[in-house]
Amino acid sequence: MEKLQRDFLESLISAPSPAGYEQPVRQVYHAYTESFADDVRSDVHGNMIAVRNTDGNPRLMFAGHCDELGFQVNYINDQGFIYFNTIGGHDAGLVPGRRVVIHSKNGPVVGVTGRKAIHLTPPSDRGKPAKIENIWIDIAVSDKQEAEALVNIGDPITYDVGLQDLRSDVVAGRALDNKIGTWVVAEGLRRASTQQLQASIHAVATVQEEIGLRGAETSAYGINPAVAIAVDVTHATDHPNITKQTAGDVKLGGGPTISRGPNFNPRVVEKLIEAAEALNIPYQLEAASRGTGTDANAIQLSRAGVATGLVSVPLRYMHTPSEVVALDDADAAATLLAEFANRLAPEDDFTP
Ligand SMILES: [Zn+2]
Repeated sequence: MEKLQRDFLESLISAPSPAGYEQPVRQVYHAYTESFADDVRSDVHGNMIAVRNTDGNPRLMFAGHCDELGFQVNYINDQGFIYFNTIGGHDAGLVPGRRVVIHSKNGPVVGVTGRKAIHLTPPSDRGKPAKIENIWIDIAVSDKQEAEALVNIGDPITYDVGLQDLRSDVVAGRALDNKIGTWVVAEGLRRASTQQLQASIHAVATVQEEIGLRGAETSAYGINPAVAIAVDVTHATDHPNITKQTAGDVKLGGGPTISRGPNFNPRVVEKLIEAAEALNIPYQLEAASRGTGTDANAIQLSRAGVATGLVSVPLRYMHTPSEVVALDDADAAATLLAEFANRLAPEDDFTP
């Protein structure tokens, strides 16, 4: 990955953006895409939309949600310990013992997630699943008043962890679901050919995916595309304790996945595969036998229906502070999106 693109990814990851609090990541997306897009704008829901070839045909939407999991300040007790709501689908067992940042209007406030030590837990309760209501955030204040001077009810919270290189192109980080997909749609837009492109491309950093595909719903309605590709992460199944009979076979570093099933237009799937094969882009097929939990689901059902596809970056340990992806998979996904766009023509018919 080239330096500029790597810097863009690091900026996306550094920007704290739990669902509903995406302003920092929206700014990063705007700053990067405005150097090559014809237009970058926000809708009233917060979706950031970068456009190339505005009057082209057909209208093509790329969607990569930019929100991440997080927490939200819910209650401060008399001693100044902070209780929180979860934003998105957390594994409660992974929440205690972390460094966190509360993003207050006066700046970041650092803290740790505390719970009763194992030694103080009665043997009969040890090993029981953690519950969010038994975990608090400790910002080392002496009482409620001191805490309230620093943080406010409703402030968003993220883990205090950034991007870390592991080996070769493999990285670990918080919120790679789905900052990596946000990166892919911006890069797909940038890489589309100036000469070949007939479609108009609307590359959207969608908001509020983790709480119900909400930004995809509003942005798809507003853009009114004929064709759309959602980009998200998918479970890499190449680690221990996976049952491939049910989870399928997806490898980190094996290329992006192209999904097949009722959530996807069969002509879009064919065209994605043609685009991958034309450029020798590695890809993996993935089966989904119903509507998916991705933006592709909301987009396909927008208005009278949108011909929708899903391209995913394989990821290990989804919804943990240490998600793992291979950057080459994201790079290949961006090239695939660009080539798909280059191949669209006004006469293309996606009626199955
Ligand atoms: Zn997710």
